Amino acid sequence: MTSTIGSTVLGYPRIGPNRELKRALERYWASRGSEAELRAVARELRADTWRSLAAAGLDSVPGNTFSFYDHVLDTAVMVDAVPRRFTDLGLNPLDTYFAMARGVASTSPLEMTKWFDTNYHYLVPEIGPSTQFSLADRTPVEQYREAAELGVTTRPVLVGPLTFLLLSKPDDDAPASFLPLDKLGDLLEVYAELLRQLRRAGAEWVQLDEPAFAADRSQDELDALREAYHALGELTDRPNLLVAGYFGNLGDALPVVASSPVEALGVDLVAAPSTVDTLSMCRSLRDKTLVAGLVDGRNIWRTDLDQALTTAATLLGLADEVAVSTSCSLLHVPYDVEVETRLDPRVKSWLAFAAQKVHEVVVLGRALREGRDVVATELAEAREAVADRATAEGVRDDRVHARLASLRPEHTRRGDYAARQRAQQQSLRLPPLPTTTIGSFPQTTDVRKARAALRTGELDPTTYTDRMRSEIERVIRLQERIGLDVLVHGEPERNDMVQYFAEQLTGFAATDHGWVQSYGSRCVRPPILYGDVARPEPITVEWARFAQQLTDKPVKGMLTGPVTILAWSFVRDDQPMADTARQVALAIRDETRDLEAEGIRVVQVDEPALRELLPLRSQRRKAYLDWAVEAFRLATSGVADSTQIHTHLCYSEFGDVIDAIVALDADVTSIEAARSRMEVLDDLNAVGFDRGVGPGVYDIHSPRVPDQAEIADLLRAALRAVPAERLWVNPDCGLKTRAYAEVDAALANMVRATATVRESL
Ligand code: GLN
Ligand code: ZN
Repeated sequence: MTSTIGSTVLGYPRIGPNRELKRALERYWASRGSEAELRAVARELRADTWRSLAAAGLDSVPGNTFSFYDHVLDTAVMVDAVPRRFTDLGLNPLDTYFAMARGVASTSPLEMTKWFDTNYHYLVPEIGPSTQFSLADRTPVEQYREAAELGVTTRPVLVGPLTFLLLSKPDDDAPASFLPLDKLGDLLEVYAELLRQLRRAGAEWVQLDEPAFAADRSQDELDALREAYHALGELTDRPNLLVAGYFGNLGDALPVVASSPVEALGVDLVAAPSTVDTLSMCRSLRDKTLVAGLVDGRNIWRTDLDQALTTAATLLGLADEVAVSTSCSLLHVPYDVEVETRLDPRVKSWLAFAAQKVHEVVVLGRALREGRDVVATELAEAREAVADRATAEGVRDDRVHARLASLRPEHTRRGDYAARQRAQQQSLRLPPLPTTTIGSFPQTTDVRKARAALRTGELDPTTYTDRMRSEIERVIRLQERIGLDVLVHGEPERNDMVQYFAEQLTGFAATDHGWVQSYGSRCVRPPILYGDVARPEPITVEWARFAQQLTDKPVKGMLTGPVTILAWSFVRDDQPMADTARQVALAIRDETRDLEAEGIRVVQVDEPALRELLPLRSQRRKAYLDWAVEAFRLATSGVADSTQIHTHLCYSEFGDVIDAIVALDADVTSIEAARSRMEVLDDLNAVGFDRGVGPGVYDIHSPRVPDQAEIADLLRAALRAVPAERLWVNPDCGLKTRAYAEVDAALANMVRATATVRESL
């Protein structure tokens, strides 16, 4: 087969330009729509995607990029890795699939976790010695045919067999020595059969995604990679194979794939430009196609096409063909920037969403093949946009730079902890085992409606403020009645903990339609951080002040930390993340000081995403954690000793960041620890953590109300690891998504449990 790849993208969004799939899924789940209706929506979305990608001029159109929920789940179902608890339900295939994704009353779903270092979440397959792989579902073949009938030749995209197993976890029956990778041989047979069927259906190319090799891998895993692609490559009767690795440099895996008998290798030159050097040492690429990921698949900036062409030129001698692609699937960006009518036109001209990125790839492909002249206009436009962005007002704010330049080490240091502790005790006079919450209280329909009405102008700002104030007052009275020690205002005015701040800082833009799939039907609309960040005026102070004057109990001010703001936004690619983080940190620092000046004695700076941005390669982690910690300290060290700084972290496994948690130097740290509450405390003790700590004692992810005895038991267990002076009592996370009835009962139990444990101290 001689067909070439030319220009392509590694994958495409699938939720629908107007979130059609989200709506159809939610209708189906609520029994308001039939399976046939859902399938019809899906079919139409696929057809639109294939047609538009072909029409845009891509030489190779990716196929099988659609999913009803998640592509890793699809792969598990395809190879028949469906745990017994789901087949036992006796549901039809589609409902079995959704049971794996979402659970049913009697059965918990597969675990969900982050797809590498993105904000997309996949479902973790469960594999055990008794898992019997077989080709149970032929969706990739069917969709190949479906596209072919519409006149579009596609290149089916599959999760590679190694990545699939490396992302899986051993099932409950597996012995401790078992690794999912032990089943590679069996799995390869299924992939071999699938490849044969795809070939028979007419597929010329198949893409196998192996991003797992952008992270550190053992020698055994590299050997398994070699074995797998030798086995698949040796098959006769198969399509050409493109093995794509993205989200970083493939490192040692690169020569392994390059020397295996596959036809093409895809690399991410955006996340890891250094891959060019690794490639130039790979002689075995000579007879292969190198698919150069030159257009950022994860961020929303227009590509510097000149620079991309320069990079492409350095690759030309290395491989038989150099094809142009995105760095990874476009799943991580919104569909189309053209539909954004309210975005500042100048900012808009710097952006490329999925549709624009496809166009960029096509332009690059033509420039490589036919010469730059044929796309001279497109290149000039891109050049202009890149230059405009570099010099535009609003991107560079000299005052911000001057302030950054004046920073000294003391700006990231607080006073001695013992002195702080004394000053805080004097100011707050808290009992042992102080009780508090993480910030948000349930967001009622009324609250959401009021926010929406303010946005559309139906509600004037004064009436809006009154509504929010009465909600805050209600939440304060509720907490007083329950008897909590440190109160919160409840965050009714916040749509989202990042977006709320982004809307009030300079340097951020918001989109109307820029939705990106987070998991299943759930989408997020990340703000776009395009310029230097400053805080024109206080953001939260007025709400906090209002809440504090209602009560004698301390009210905790509530802010989002710099790392989390970055993690949940599209960030600039024109300066190091550390610099952007410092700018955001300074804005938060100003806010903490203003809160303090208004009489707020406790300020919580949330960093639930601290671990999310952790680099895939361990070698790069220290540098990241250094700037992340520094940004938090910059944000929180401007206050007096007597002001108590809290932070909240949102994950239960934090071995990788434990030293960083200590280095944050917060006075009190609350952690989501639903699964391994008390181990968390041991881990912290092991590194000498000696600050206040609140391991969540109420799992807010479930509607279940924990009873008093259960919480008291957890507290007693915690007291074995942490002395009473340091232990705080709080739920796992914010209460935003819960109902008042549950929250009221659960917090009351939490406070009663604390009272009984206090008596026995
Ligand atoms: N303060 C936020 C809240 O309570 C924290 C949310 C989070 O940790 N994700 O909602
Ligand atoms: Zn949380």
